[in-house]
Amino acid sequence: MAGRIPKSFIDDLVGRADIVEVVGARVTLKRAGSNYKGLCPFHGEKTPSFIVTPSRGTYHCFGCSAHGTAIGFLMAYDNLEFPEAVEALAEMMGLEVPRESTGVPERKDDNEDLYALLREADQIYRAALRSSDKAIAYLKKRGIDGPTAGRFGIGYAPDAWDTVLKQLGTSDARIAKLLQAGLVVANDSGRKYDRFRDRIMFPIRNSPRGQIIGFGGRVLDSGEPKYLNSPETPVFRKGHELYGLYEARQTPGRPKQIIVTEGYLDVASLVQYGVENAVATLGTATTAENLRRLTRLTDRILFCFDGDRAGRAAAWRALETALPYGGGTLELKFLLLPEGDDPDSFVRTKGADAFRALAEKAAPLSDFLVNELSARVDMGSVDGRSRFQAIAKPLLKRLPEGTYRAAVMDAFATALRLKPDVLDELMSDDKEPSRAAERVMHGAAKRKTVVQKVINLALHYPAAAARTGDSQRLAALNQPGADLLRRVFAAAAEITDGSTARVLETLRDDPDFQYLERIVAEPPLAIETEEDAAKELAASLDHLSEDAKRAADVARIISGNRPGTGPA
Ligand SMILES: [Zn+2]
Repeated sequence: MAGRIPKSFIDDLVGRADIVEVVGARVTLKRAGSNYKGLCPFHGEKTPSFIVTPSRGTYHCFGCSAHGTAIGFLMAYDNLEFPEAVEALAEMMGLEVPRESTGVPERKDDNEDLYALLREADQIYRAALRSSDKAIAYLKKRGIDGPTAGRFGIGYAPDAWDTVLKQLGTSDARIAKLLQAGLVVANDSGRKYDRFRDRIMFPIRNSPRGQIIGFGGRVLDSGEPKYLNSPETPVFRKGHELYGLYEARQTPGRPKQIIVTEGYLDVASLVQYGVENAVATLGTATTAENLRRLTRLTDRILFCFDGDRAGRAAAWRALETALPYGGGTLELKFLLLPEGDDPDSFVRTKGADAFRALAEKAAPLSDFLVNELSARVDMGSVDGRSRFQAIAKPLLKRLPEGTYRAAVMDAFATALRLKPDVLDELMSDDKEPSRAAERVMHGAAKRKTVVQKVINLALHYPAAAARTGDSQRLAALNQPGADLLRRVFAAAAEITDGSTARVLETLRDDPDFQYLERIVAEPPLAIETEEDAAKELAASLDHLSEDAKRAADVARIISGNRPGTGPA
């Protein structure tokens, strides 16, 4: 157990915190005399009754009586526990939270052992880099210079099974800790060996403390996986930390902007070429926790991803997570690089100025949302427009209520070629099941039954779906509703206990969630065992993929290509 946070520190922190800055990062505030005024984030309102008083360091809402300090605001708005809110506020101000010693001689913290081992492993990897011509040559080829390698503590895991195991696993207790830290793995027969072998090692530090909590290892050649990360451990939670954040925070002052990328090399290259304050997610999509932390540190977040399909998908997921942060004084921008480029290659070949010029043209969240959605559906057709609306509705609902949402709705109305009040009406149509979603499913009456049957079965028997839904077969489907089917299978694959409720819960944000809810409520099918469900699913998927293949062939013949010559 960490000790208590000293009262004096909390007093000092609250005294020094600028409540206008803290609240203003979440709520648009306007000066009103010696106070600031805005729309209350805790109850829906059209005229501002939410007052922030900087001289007192407090906020108060005359509408719903919400009130408190900067810490209270963070607790309420970000749904944090008190110590978390203190940590958050301290982080905004670049301070580390001290802990009181508990008086009793402190039992050594388990995690201290893990941090120590990770630190020792880091030393081993760094030393190995210095003596590996191969690894040094690789970094040179990738354009990473010595100072950058030093700044990020880049190392090398030698091409051996027991580099770390041999040097650090000097007792059974230490070997157990190495396993817990994710540095060593054990196979089924109990044989233990180093997780990271023949990889460039990027130590991942927490912020603001700077402790090494895990590693990302990149292959030197074309091997797979390209990046291998530490597993989740008691000290390494992937959704919480960001690579490069600690390093970025070593420069004093509040960063004007933080750039979120997907690769550790992207971060190192950007920083080396003078584009500061770049971070990367840890092999996951951008999480709400990532965003909450970043919004404390800066007023502008630039999501910068590759221009390929994976990059677009990553940007889209970031957008979905970022929606609740739209509006206010926080600027959220999206930049997709030209096809074939990633931030690393772009800044290396074209330089920092070219990158900054491109970044200036990044799309604000609202534009990106409208453009991406328009690109995904055919806005010329009625079906396309209704599909657009089916997807857009739940997304728009995640935007904070107020003038910002209204402005985005206007942009949608233009894209949809609808009068704003018509869109308004459609959006308020809350309790109706998603009719547009239904129409997508009904698109082709002949196939409807099979796709629906498969979705139904997959929801009722997620474990069977996880077994039968191989990605290649699923990817080939092009029937109406195939996207939804893929989303259901992906959710089923994520859930290990095979429970329908959990699968459904992970799909809560899905545009067609209401439709899925209805499917689950339908009477159970005439299938009673998981075995039978798996057989039925396999057969139906076969049927669908053959169907899809025939349709694709026909399309190719119509467009003048011979079957089998185009990309699959
Ligand atoms: Zn209120």
